[in-house]
Amino acid sequence: MIRAVLVGAAGRMGRAITVAAQSEGGLRFTGAVDAARSAALGTDLGVHAGLAPLGVSIGSELAPLLSCADVVMDFSQPAVVGETLGRCAAARVPLLVGTTGLGTEQLLAAEQAARSIAVLIAPNTSLGVTLLLELVRRAAAALPTDYDIEIFEAHHREKKDAPSGTALALGRAAAQGRGRDFDDVAVRSRSGSGPRQPGEIGFAVQRAGDIVGEHSVTFAAAGERLVLGHVATDRAVFARGALAAARWLAGRHAGRYTMADVLSS
Ligand code: NAD
Repeated sequence: MIRAVLVGAAGRMGRAITVAAQSEGGLRFTGAVDAARSAALGTDLGVHAGLAPLGVSIGSELAPLLSCADVVMDFSQPAVVGETLGRCAAARVPLLVGTTGLGTEQLLAAEQAARSIAVLIAPNTSLGVTLLLELVRRAAAALPTDYDIEIFEAHHREKKDAPSGTALALGRAAAQGRGRDFDDVAVRSRSGSGPRQPGEIGFAVQRAGDIVGEHSVTFAAAGERLVLGHVATDRAVFARGALAAARWLAGRHAGRYTMADVLSS
């Protein structure tokens, strides 16, 4: 039985992962952490997710929980991830980062931590999106460069980052397929940008209602469009993928990993 600690335990993904872990088995939570100001502090993790009590109280301190953990899962906020990485590296506990919207600071911290622990950064833990990334890379490599690449994503009204981490990962996969530097070709917003320049990878974003997550990548040329896409209808799909990744990470040696490593094994 793998022992896991959940950071961001009181959030939407924290609850979905708690529920999925109960129905899947093979992993149990030995600790749960949320923000010091969270109204959920002191609540049982299971009860907060609408289940029977699990005997794990949601606290605000990660460090004391790490001696009883085989893996940590972080689904919180970007500003939290640097500290999670540092604490996990110090305690030698592998870490799954599901939190999106990471900046340069957190990515550098991840490189640093990956020298001593296994770190898997997954802006999208669904196996379908993991496969989509590979399909997009291949399509971008195979099609001539006059096929314009545009990425659309839609999420619920509470989502904080835009474009989504998944949309950016799809853009990076397309840029990689074309042998281009992503930052040279990405156009994150078209407001006031003028006509499309050759080679650009453009992003469009929708925020509305309770949309769980939709992504499409369009390759458009004169006379045809190829559209590759993914629709998540239930957060449980991310939760199940996160659990698969956590089970895969436990006991893994130091280094940077992606969901493609989980899928391929
Ligand atoms: P949410 O806002 O519902 O939950 C985030 C939780 O983090 C909240 O309970 C918040 O109180 C908590 N938090 C804030 N500061 C904290 C701290 N210092 N320590 C511990 N916890 C803290 O958001 P959500 O929808 O659950 O999403 C969480 C993250 O996961 C976001 O970045 C989202 O984009 C990402 N996400 C990833 C996937 C994936 O497949 N990887 C899927 C969905 C969402």
